Amino acid sequence: MASIEFVKVTKSFDKHDVIKDLDLKIEDGKFTVLVGPSGCGKTTLLRMIAGIDPQTSGSVLINGKDVTKIAPGQRGVAMVFQNYAIYPTMSVRENIEFGLKNNKVPKEERTRLVESISATVGLSEYLDRKPSTLSGGQRQRVALARAMVKQPSVFLMDEPLSNLDAKLRVQMRIELIELHKKLGTTFVYVTHDQVEAMSMADTIVLMNKGLIQQEAPPDIMYRKPSNRFAAEFIGVPPMNIDDLGVEDIRFGFRPESAVLSKEPGGQHFSIRGVIATREMLGSETVYQVKYKNSSYMIKCIEDHFTVDQEVYLEVAANKIFFFGADGNRI
Ligand code: ADP
Ligand code: MG
Repeated sequence: MASIEFVKVTKSFDKHDVIKDLDLKIEDGKFTVLVGPSGCGKTTLLRMIAGIDPQTSGSVLINGKDVTKIAPGQRGVAMVFQNYAIYPTMSVRENIEFGLKNNKVPKEERTRLVESISATVGLSEYLDRKPSTLSGGQRQRVALARAMVKQPSVFLMDEPLSNLDAKLRVQMRIELIELHKKLGTTFVYVTHDQVEAMSMADTIVLMNKGLIQQEAPPDIMYRKPSNRFAAEFIGVPPMNIDDLGVEDIRFGFRPESAVLSKEPGGQHFSIRGVIATREMLGSETVYQVKYKNSSYMIKCIEDHFTVDQEVYLEVAANKIFFFGADGNRI
């Protein structure tokens, strides 16, 4: 088990700061998800924890200890990559055993570890197979097992599910949550997918352009976004944000917070608009409502309206967010 801390960490490539003055504490034993758009610095952050590509300045601490001078192999961390990084010519067993052999772990101990970990990730029947004969999900499990045999105190996972199809991704999410519970080890999981972050994290660390935008559990991230970026990044479709016509203040509401009706309902925010598009998704329908120069996305359980129909769009006062000129929530 281990906590991780970044203290005033900067990482530059060719004099360009990709991460600047970053302070972050990652709690021991928690499932922390680093999420943000592509290029915001998530992988760079993971690589600094692993020691693969150290920081330019500042310190990275593991369990309170500065690890700047500690080699990657000695940090007690294991990384799981998006492209699995498994050896195609080796059997599943050889792949999982590889790191142990390198570390001169005795054969008996190797066999015991490989078998118990394969059982944990559901690979027992596949130990003698070559990776090419496995499904994407099974290959991902081999990559996980390879990390697990190292018995690390921190798991670092860089978009490990992004090569899987949608259905398998959902299943593997649940498996990873269960694995985390079982192991009780610190997980630092990187993704650009806010749905993954929301469904898996104890704590979400939301990043943009090398800066932390907000750090919070998923429900707080959703109910109390600290700024416009957080408000728009979390939730599908994104929060509707528009200007008030007053100074630089903007208001916003989530697509699921609005009510559409034929008659006005007397809510705080009430406009009469026109349905511009309608997308029926099965359990819900997403409408685009146009009003003057604005358009708002609205998510409804019912599917009562048709394109070109006039509707009242209303939002209760306690469902409206306000953002200042600096983008921060007021
Ligand atoms: P993410 O994982 O969030 O998509 P990365 O951490 O991979 O983002 O990259 C953050 C930024 O740093 C990007 O602008 C990327 O181009 C840049 N970067 C990453 N690695 C290098 C490198 N080795 N050399 C130069 N620039 C890099
Ligand atoms: Mg990345």
